[in-house]
Amino acid sequence: MANINLSEISSLIKEQIKAYKEQIYTENVGRVVEVGDGIAVVYGLDNAMYSELLIFPNGVYGMVQDLRKDSVGVILLGESSKVKEGDIVKCSGRVLEVPVGEEFIGRVVNALGQPIDGNGPIKISKTRPIEMKATGVMDRSSVNTPLQTGIKVLDALVPIGRGQRELIIGDRQTGKTAIAIDTILNQAGKDVICIYVAIGQKESTVSNIYETLKAYDAMKYSIIVSASASNPAPMLYLAPYSGVSMAEYFMYQGKDVLIVYDDLSKHAVAYREMSLLLHRPPGREAYPGDVFYLHSRLLERAAKLSKELGGGSITALPIIETQAGDISAYIPTNVISITDGQIFLQSDYFYKGIRPAINAGLSVSRVGGAAQTKAIKKVSGTLRLDLAAYRELEAFTQFGSDLDASTKARLDRGRRTQEILKQGLHKTLSMEEEAVILYCLTKGYLDTIVIEDLARFEEQLYLDMKVSEEGKRIAAYIKEHKVLPEDEQLDQYIKEFKKKF
Ligand code: ATP
Ligand code: MG
Repeated sequence: MANINLSEISSLIKEQIKAYKEQIYTENVGRVVEVGDGIAVVYGLDNAMYSELLIFPNGVYGMVQDLRKDSVGVILLGESSKVKEGDIVKCSGRVLEVPVGEEFIGRVVNALGQPIDGNGPIKISKTRPIEMKATGVMDRSSVNTPLQTGIKVLDALVPIGRGQRELIIGDRQTGKTAIAIDTILNQAGKDVICIYVAIGQKESTVSNIYETLKAYDAMKYSIIVSASASNPAPMLYLAPYSGVSMAEYFMYQGKDVLIVYDDLSKHAVAYREMSLLLHRPPGREAYPGDVFYLHSRLLERAAKLSKELGGGSITALPIIETQAGDISAYIPTNVISITDGQIFLQSDYFYKGIRPAINAGLSVSRVGGAAQTKAIKKVSGTLRLDLAAYRELEAFTQFGSDLDASTKARLDRGRRTQEILKQGLHKTLSMEEEAVILYCLTKGYLDTIVIEDLARFEEQLYLDMKVSEEGKRIAAYIKEHKVLPEDEQLDQYIKEFKKKF
């Protein structure tokens, strides 16, 4: 000891002090004070951001939903039963994101983009935040391309354009989902990517939809995002935002996307549940005050982009379930006011066999007319009036009074209109077929055919348009030019066909 020189020691210490480079890390951490039902309240975390991803122990994640004075309200993603009071929670510094990309096409995923179809993992290369600001006014262009549903009555009376938001609304079991699914089936070969978001549905229903899409080869261009009824409310809340984030990825690449939210009534209910658990004050019908914003910020993300941004689009078909046909209830009126029109389905029509059960008087499309093809526009002008007049007269003539010739003619035309506008499940039509059959109707060619024969007439006409020389020529012409050929030519063809029939 004695031979250790004091100055040596001090120089050693000085050297060490010089080399001392310990860095100080600060970590924003908090503690769980309350947990349950997929919700946690965390004390601390003064620097947490809204929508930030939080890291809980045991691989559970959370998303900041409420910023309060000295705590934050968090929705839990993953197995919330693993979270205990007193657990340490860390901020991640990132807002919640979902994986996006082409890899998702053909797959069924949950609200976080994790595969649930048993077809193996999905390679993740890109992500997008779940909540994004909607495209601004200057970045949009007006709706100008049709999104053909392949359903006669819709394409004629409530035409939908790419980038539009059209609500499908009606009581339970009125064919709401059927319309959305048929529209997806009809996008085959039309370069539209379809995303079906199932919110709060039975797993068996979603699985049936998956099977249908697969059977019609539509999974080739579709993604299913599912937060089923058995998932906790936060998952149901997130599902549509995840879906639209995936859609935006494609839209910004200049592609056209169709997204279906089935349905937003259940979404609102899940949000109400979540909000009550987060102790937010309940408002009308116990929904929180921001339930309008919940759906408006979602649906505003549907857009038709300007040419400079690539011209891609997201068309949204939200679905709302009404109680006893009441479209003036709270959530229905909210969503009606956010969308560009609605397709109103009525149960009594449905039970009478008028399917799709569309109420032509209450169904509108506020922007789609601009996107309708000339061919369809030409033949659909009088349809709405014909139908309305028919339904009015029908009620009136139930008492069996004598009818004058013109009333009888209107009734006959109306009955045929109603009959022709019926359409079976998954029997979507091309624009050419729709145009020609509606031309037959409005020009009176069907007036001489008995009602019972109309379905057969339709079927044979479509067949003829595929096999006969003249039929093929006319179909190709309409398809290419999007207008009807000269009246004489079309009249000639239909007369010839009627002779064969
Ligand atoms: P829910 O309220 O349960 O979600 P929904 O309104 O979505 O019901 P769908 O599930 O689409 O209704 O349809 C209800 C039933 O009616 C289904 O069995 C479906 O096959 C049948 N259906 C729907 N549209 C048609 C149609 N155009 N022709 C024949 N059957 C149809
Ligand atoms: Mg449904």
